[in-house]
Amino acid sequence: MSQTEIPSAADTAQLTNQIAFAPLCDRFGRVHSALRISVTDRCNIRCQYCMPDHDLQFLAQHRLLSFAAIERFVKAVAKAGVTKIRITGGEPLMRPNLAELIERLADIREVEDLALTTNGMLLASQVSELVAAGLKRINISLDTLNEVTFEKIARRSGLQRVLEGIEAARAFPQLKLRLNALVLKHVNEDDIVPLAHFARQVSIPIRFIEFMPLDAERKWNGTQMLSGQEIRSLIEKEFGPLIKQESKDPSQPASDYQFADGRGLVGFIDSVTTPFCSSCNRIRLTAEGKIQNCLFGREEWNAAPLLQDDKASDAAIVDLVRTAVLRKHAAHGIAQPGFEPPQRAMYQIGG
Ligand code: SF4
Repeated sequence: MSQTEIPSAADTAQLTNQIAFAPLCDRFGRVHSALRISVTDRCNIRCQYCMPDHDLQFLAQHRLLSFAAIERFVKAVAKAGVTKIRITGGEPLMRPNLAELIERLADIREVEDLALTTNGMLLASQVSELVAAGLKRINISLDTLNEVTFEKIARRSGLQRVLEGIEAARAFPQLKLRLNALVLKHVNEDDIVPLAHFARQVSIPIRFIEFMPLDAERKWNGTQMLSGQEIRSLIEKEFGPLIKQESKDPSQPASDYQFADGRGLVGFIDSVTTPFCSSCNRIRLTAEGKIQNCLFGREEWNAAPLLQDDKASDAAIVDLVRTAVLRKHAAHGIAQPGFEPPQRAMYQIGG
């Protein structure tokens, strides 16, 4: 194009699009391609590392983003390279007709990965329709195999229903399953080795998660946390040295290992002792439509008005997300002096 030539309307539109939907890169060069969507703050258990046991004020139904609004948000950000979607809660399976949302999101051409994190309590009755709707991966929380310990952590009964949910999900070979176990010192420490044996028995990879300061009762002070290193030592004492696996996705939060005998994978999410913020690619959308640029973010951006405005453009939605990404801090800062937990507890963000 010569110096004096004016680009055609089509060229201009294309250029504008390229700019509007450029990858969501923050000030530290991290490109954001993963979105975690909380579809409800409600849950059917009360894990002490997440929710308060009582006096809960859940969001009124009318404040929850509709499936159409969530679909609209995903369609917009998918144009800017956000192609990995994880559905969370509270407990996402408590949101009625969730399979309809899964279907809507699975139909979005750019969406490469569609996953769900659940406590498994309602999985047995819903897994079939979720898979039929296009769900590819499910992470199931399982912190213990002991009913007494389960009730101590979850403050409700239900271990059997979780195990039935896992069994039901295993019937779908196309579904990628993973177990997530959060470890609390002196609570389910003795469950680490039995959980590893169970994971090998059912051939599902398991990840052990460090307790993070996201509990609603703000009791976290680091002494209840067992570090990933301590958990790894307990497992290696039982199974021998673990074999570190190359990570296929540099932004994934876990370090994965294979058991020495090759039977199964075990991973560790050491978010407190070995932060992985430098490769973070995640943004979050809360159940009522607030954009969060980090689990420990202190600001949020309300996308709900845009999503409810038929005249708003996809570019405007992405622009709001870009603003949030550009204001993202380098890391959670848990180890920094003066660290304060965020306003929202885990069940209000969705992990
Ligand atoms: S703490 Fe925040 S920046 Fe760090 S990995 Fe988690 S979401 Fe990303």
